Amino acid sequence: MPRGVSKADLPTKVCATCGRPFAWRKKWARDWEAVRYCSDRCRAGSRPARGAAARDGKA
Ligand SMILES: [Zn+2]
Repeated sequence: MPRGVSKADLPTKVCATCGRPFAWRKKWARDWEAVRYCSDRCRAGSRPARGAAARDGKA
């Protein structure tokens, strides 16, 4: 395994719901631009942010 790539090299975003930073995950590879939440729980929108939760509420 190459040592040049570490977790620190992964793209990160800040969750729109909980405000915590989270790192790129393989399951988001094709959808990273649209990802706004760190988890399904946050995506479900316990605390809606500017109505984004409704838009991203899919599955
Ligand atoms: Zn979150």
